[in-house]
Amino acid sequence: MNNNSYSTLYKIEPIGFGTAYVESLTSYIYRLSREHCVSAGDILSDVITPVTGKAYLTNGFQRSCDPVYKNSYKINGMDQEARDFVSALQELTHVNSLEFLTLLPLNWLPAKGMIKPFQSWCPLCYEEWSSTKQPLYTPLIWSIIPVTFCNRHQVPLVNSCHKCNKKILYLSRNGRIGYCPNCGAWLGQEYNDVAYSAFFTYDQWASEKVALIIEKCKKAASRTVNL
Ligand SMILES: [Zn+2]
Ligand SMILES: [Zn+2]
Repeated sequence: MNNNSYSTLYKIEPIGFGTAYVESLTSYIYRLSREHCVSAGDILSDVITPVTGKAYLTNGFQRSCDPVYKNSYKINGMDQEARDFVSALQELTHVNSLEFLTLLPLNWLPAKGMIKPFQSWCPLCYEEWSSTKQPLYTPLIWSIIPVTFCNRHQVPLVNSCHKCNKKILYLSRNGRIGYCPNCGAWLGQEYNDVAYSAFFTYDQWASEKVALIIEKCKKAASRTVNL
């Protein structure tokens, strides 16, 4: 990687680097597409996947194959997809240490079954970031299976659209962070509209433990990121 030359894509900083709320790699791809004013589908098929040099990605995204988008959860995991996207995005943005936006640093965990196949999110986080004009993003921690609770707001994560009730893939051709790609609904909600119960002790405990693991991994990385 040559850091003295211009990068092909904007060199945008991953949100929350070095914290338990670090951004996921699929969120980073959405934010890159937005910064470049193109759809996620276009940036994937025309810019990112050609750099991977992997036919299983270039063919799939160029044809907008459903299975490729259906498997987009693997980009945040610890499989080959994660390695291929980290390497391509580092080459295109000249931002290092993007593996910490995936579960690759936790490869001592069982590879299967760590990432939810569909997104889950905290509607209060989205609403708060939007109302305070902070950039919208999806933290990696929301992708991880034992995490079903937002420790910031003490509410359960949501895993289907409140309007159309559909589940949401990590990447869609015209998807955007914080909006349902199926019906276009805004996924943020006010506190009063979110189901709340005081009986989430296990969920709360598991989510806090995963947050600690992610934070420890990222602390070392926060000193080496080259922006
Ligand atoms: Zn929250
Ligand atoms: Zn919807």
